[in-house]
Amino acid sequence: MKKLSLVVDMYGCPNRCKHCWLGHMPNCKMADKTDEFLIEYFKPYFENITYYSWLREPDYCDDYRQRWMKDNEISIQGRPMRFELASFYRLVRDEEYVKFLKEVGVKKVQLTFFGLETMTDFYIGRKNAYNELLLATDILISNGIAPRWQAFIFEDNKNEIVKLLDVIDKQNLYERCASFGEEFKFFVHAGSCDGENVKQYPIRIQKENIPKQLIPYYWEYDNILEEKECVKLLLESHEKIIFETSEDIVLNISNDLDVYFNYTHMTKPWIIGNILKDDAKELVRKIVEGDTYALNMIRNCSYSELVKRYGDTTSTKVFTLDDYKMYMVNRYLDDCAN
Ligand code: SF4
Repeated sequence: MKKLSLVVDMYGCPNRCKHCWLGHMPNCKMADKTDEFLIEYFKPYFENITYYSWLREPDYCDDYRQRWMKDNEISIQGRPMRFELASFYRLVRDEEYVKFLKEVGVKKVQLTFFGLETMTDFYIGRKNAYNELLLATDILISNGIAPRWQAFIFEDNKNEIVKLLDVIDKQNLYERCASFGEEFKFFVHAGSCDGENVKQYPIRIQKENIPKQLIPYYWEYDNILEEKECVKLLLESHEKIIFETSEDIVLNISNDLDVYFNYTHMTKPWIIGNILKDDAKELVRKIVEGDTYALNMIRNCSYSELVKRYGDTTSTKVFTLDDYKMYMVNRYLDDCAN
């Protein structure tokens, strides 16, 4: 039987980032026992289930310690992972939190910037976010956890991202992390083109406009393509659009219990079904067989057809090929839905 991970938006997120690949959703605390109900719902069909009570901000609930324990307790065979993620919102508000991160073995935490104060606050959608990120950096380092700064680059913040190099320098981040045997990392990228980030398509960075100073920090710079290069490659490939269901199925579950795969944003065309409305056996069949609205709509398409319709043969905006494929798929699905 396949393995299942349930990634559930039980509490929400304090931020409203303009690059958020999941898309903005309301913050609603789910009813108590929804976690156990979800496990029971899927238990007859999967022997190995890993439960995550957070889809957006990890540890956003006040009882994050008990929550982590419960996620572990109710998982069946599988155990949730920590990844390199934590809540910077909580780090600066709750002095116990960093101790918890240490206890559960966190060694690195990723923090996201968009430039200096005004730009970062604007893109995270919350005043003081930039200052909180700097404070969170200090708290992590003081406790022997290495921050990893990622920056999302667009046409309107590219010069501010360069200024982050000075901030890193002034704060001595490389040396401070090396002092406890960890490495400080900084990297820059444009993100995928799903969720909220689709709205940033008009200001998506053009390859020739990436500041030279940032090229050594650009994530897999040698593999990024200009949009026109993606179009050319896909026009020539005639590759069919196939999303195989793997042995490790990961489902994102919204706070109104709509169920989605985890490979793109959580919009209407991608809903597989709803836990409250759908029979479990039928929902699991749809998941395993890939019998969903979105997958059925794209099954007979090829990427070459989609780029003929939606691709811009003159654009130098940067993409990875996989991100561009998903962008094309979502352009098509949005058209079908309207
Ligand atoms: S990117 Fe992460 S922190 Fe930002 S809004 Fe989305 S889920 Fe929240």
